Amino acid sequence: MVALGRMCFQPVDLLSGEHIDLLHDDTFASLRRLCASGLVGAAAAAPPCSAFSRARLRPGGPPPIRTISHPRGKDCLSPNQATELATSSLIHIRCRELLALVAARGGLIWLENPTSSLLWLDSQVMAWCRTHTPFASAVAACAHSVPAHKSWTFMCNHESISSVASTCAHPLGFHPALSGKRSSDGIFLTRQTAQYPGSLASLLASVASPFVDEGQAGHSVRAWTSLLPTAACWPPPSGRVEDGAGLCSSATPFPPTQSDVLGGLRKAWCKRLLDSGLHQQIASRLLSGSKTNPLSEAELAPFLADLRDFLHVESESTWQSLLSVLDGQPFRLNLWHCLSLLCSDPDSDYFHVLREGVPLGIGSAIPVCPVMHPPAAPDAVRLPLEHCESAWKSALDNADVVESLLKGEVDAGWIREVPGGDAELRRLYQYTAVGKLGLVLAPGRPPRLVVDSSVSGVTSNTHLPNRSANPSLMDVRRSVPISDSLDQLVALVLDVAKAHRRMLIRPADRGLLCFRHAGRLYQCITLNFGARVSSFFWARCAGLLMRLLKRLLRVRHSSWIYVDDILAFFNRLSAPLWASVVVVLLLCLKIPMSWHKGTLSPSVVWIGWQMDFECFTVRLDPSKLSRLIALANQVLNSRSCPVRDLERLTGKLLWLSSLFRCFRPSLAPLYADQHSYTPVLTAVSPEKWQALCDNVDSHLVLLRSVGIAAIPVGSKLLRVGQTTLTCRRDLCRVTPEQRRLWVQSSCPSRSVCQLSDSSCQVIRMWLDLAASGSDVRSLILPPRLECTAFADACADASSVGMGGFVRLHDGRQLFFQTQLAKPQMLRLFQWLPSDCSLQSYIATWELASQAALLFLLHRLLGDGHLPCHTVFRSDNSAAESASWKGLSMALGLCSVLRVFFALQESLRISVHVDHVPGISNDIADGLSRGHACRSDRSQKEVRSPRTALQRLFEEVSSSAVLLLSERREL
Ligand SMILES: [Zn+2]
Repeated sequence: MVALGRMCFQPVDLLSGEHIDLLHDDTFASLRRLCASGLVGAAAAAPPCSAFSRARLRPGGPPPIRTISHPRGKDCLSPNQATELATSSLIHIRCRELLALVAARGGLIWLENPTSSLLWLDSQVMAWCRTHTPFASAVAACAHSVPAHKSWTFMCNHESISSVASTCAHPLGFHPALSGKRSSDGIFLTRQTAQYPGSLASLLASVASPFVDEGQAGHSVRAWTSLLPTAACWPPPSGRVEDGAGLCSSATPFPPTQSDVLGGLRKAWCKRLLDSGLHQQIASRLLSGSKTNPLSEAELAPFLADLRDFLHVESESTWQSLLSVLDGQPFRLNLWHCLSLLCSDPDSDYFHVLREGVPLGIGSAIPVCPVMHPPAAPDAVRLPLEHCESAWKSALDNADVVESLLKGEVDAGWIREVPGGDAELRRLYQYTAVGKLGLVLAPGRPPRLVVDSSVSGVTSNTHLPNRSANPSLMDVRRSVPISDSLDQLVALVLDVAKAHRRMLIRPADRGLLCFRHAGRLYQCITLNFGARVSSFFWARCAGLLMRLLKRLLRVRHSSWIYVDDILAFFNRLSAPLWASVVVVLLLCLKIPMSWHKGTLSPSVVWIGWQMDFECFTVRLDPSKLSRLIALANQVLNSRSCPVRDLERLTGKLLWLSSLFRCFRPSLAPLYADQHSYTPVLTAVSPEKWQALCDNVDSHLVLLRSVGIAAIPVGSKLLRVGQTTLTCRRDLCRVTPEQRRLWVQSSCPSRSVCQLSDSSCQVIRMWLDLAASGSDVRSLILPPRLECTAFADACADASSVGMGGFVRLHDGRQLFFQTQLAKPQMLRLFQWLPSDCSLQSYIATWELASQAALLFLLHRLLGDGHLPCHTVFRSDNSAAESASWKGLSMALGLCSVLRVFFALQESLRISVHVDHVPGISNDIADGLSRGHACRSDRSQKEVRSPRTALQRLFEEVSSSAVLLLSERREL
């Protein structure tokens, strides 16, 4: 690297360079942070192979600890061997983790071991390779003047590793075998070939160099943090970031635009915390897992006194009124209202509603919230209010659990028995409804009650005046600093306990959320989990709370609330202080918190994501991940699975794909399979067709299996080719002359669905990601690159034209232009039906031309460019919305979408496709129609535009992120 004038770090090795031990936990933690920092452009790992050596399988050497059938380690090992195995595994796992972190920031990585190493038989290692390093090269030692029967394998995340590949042309036995042989001083001969020959080293350096900055400096790994900026670099403000606290609030309220009305209170509380050292106590209690308040009433009293001073309350009765709490709910509503008024909060009037009890919107409209999104459309059908007679099976089957939970709710004052039953209910209330009680049993969570109010008609009669919005993982990623710095972050996570239960229902509406258990009728006094209004009314409380917290904090920080889960992050040094200010406010307002779930740490779990602010990484919460793996294996185990299981799995994967976005388009087959019993079209051979005819009853329902997976027993035949089938007689009208017949059928039982090959492949791909052990992404988003990029496509029945251009700020630009006739299109796109009109797939060609823009931009930026985010323009709204959603069920669009997303991943360019009116897209339109590019003679055309498209589809088969068409094995 030095010879190429590129910067590099000292190797991390016990033998050369700095004496650094990867097995040392603190060293490893520091290396993780380095690799995740974005400072490493290329990283290569060649972890020791001795424990994986095949030579040890022969007699004479040290006994093997791994074998071909047990590459992850033999079963019965001596204590010494077990230690050797554990050490070797740990070094390898750590190496792969470090490489994955470098790759997550757009760096080049490769993993090397001898080709014969048992490492390549380890299923976890192969899962890791399939996920992270799909490009492999083997290098023959003989090609580098080492006369030995030996070769190295390099697994890399970039195709340029192919430039090092070489083979040995000599016959087997030509080179002396080294394995198992020792030199005169007793050292294994293979040891001597552990070092790369000079010619190979220079080849490898030239692969890495495009990814590494120029410079002569060789940096020390021990002192790497000196390369970091001292202060955190926050992203430039770019519009509002959803924080769950209404349209007038944003996740990172900095620089503050509002007056500092709570400044006096903040100063008083900070001084008190620092003087007393209580902030340290609160910080440590938050980590203790204790359910008790982090401050006792006595410890809190002086803070309340500060608050009284700040508010200038002299009269004791006024103060007592501010501290008072209404029956049936816990908040100090008067005090909270007073602080909100002081901040001129736009939703301050909501406190009147909270005091009177919230309306359920039946018979009268729910008051509008001024800072929430406009409402969704009301339900098309309004069901009449009803008194349901029973409960759901989940509640009936677990009567004892339900009984004890109900007792707790009665004791808490949230529900009440109606002793006089339905008659009393109808006598007391104008509107009444009785829903069905259910019990939610989820692994890893305590059981909880839910009242289904959709069956009682309450839900459809409730029209909410606003839509609430919750923050997503993307909103967090948009608010973290753009790079690591010496000034680190710490996150605060807090959770409001039983949030919905804290809001009283107004007395007139208490006949509406009712349910039965064991012959008794109950009514809800407070809102419950399951009512449509609950999330709306809680969202208004959450908004008021978050906006007040932000006004009070005012320092540089970011904060969100997702329903009742609060996340905030602060600079490390002052985090205990600011977390304590939050805690003190919550205690003063008497907001009931699940203190035992609170955390103040650089590593937290929030709404199912595990975030690490030391390395700025995020992954799925490990407990969620293991449940996901179990479900995926369960679904995969039998090809026909309950629709509910597949729906659950698809939902979980959809959630996970908000992190691994490039995988999202591949969920399409899972969605398709959920509806595999709504009419399906199957190609059937004439022989099978005869078998079908012989085995259907008079209603065309299949009685016995004929070995067609898509037409199982119970299916009804609907149509063959153009012939609609109504009875058995219609079968005679079908002439089975063609090579295959297209049979449409459906199966009435939708409870079980058939898993397609594509779905199985998709599920295995996710399992690979989970098994790789490196299922992490960086929280840090790539910076925005400004460029001008337009593409367009046009098509008629038999040909397609595509064109587009990319122009950078410095004036460099490229365009492409291509006309493809139907035979070429059929060769490129194998899903394309041969009898189709190409015009009917215009959105697909529009999206394909957007994908071609990726190649142009990548070429302009150069091979080793840093990851970036940019905006392309399209005038086709179907292509634009598919790229935005990442999912399409349309034939063609879903296939090209996968390529488009895979390319973004492998070229390290993330794209947002923006819509432009056709009239503004005239240059790209002209290119796609084959016009010469007169207006811009300076534009350079990409050598052969068709290679761009062809490469597009080569990428599908070779790309790391898809692995759908072929699963490569070594
Ligand atoms: Zn050779």
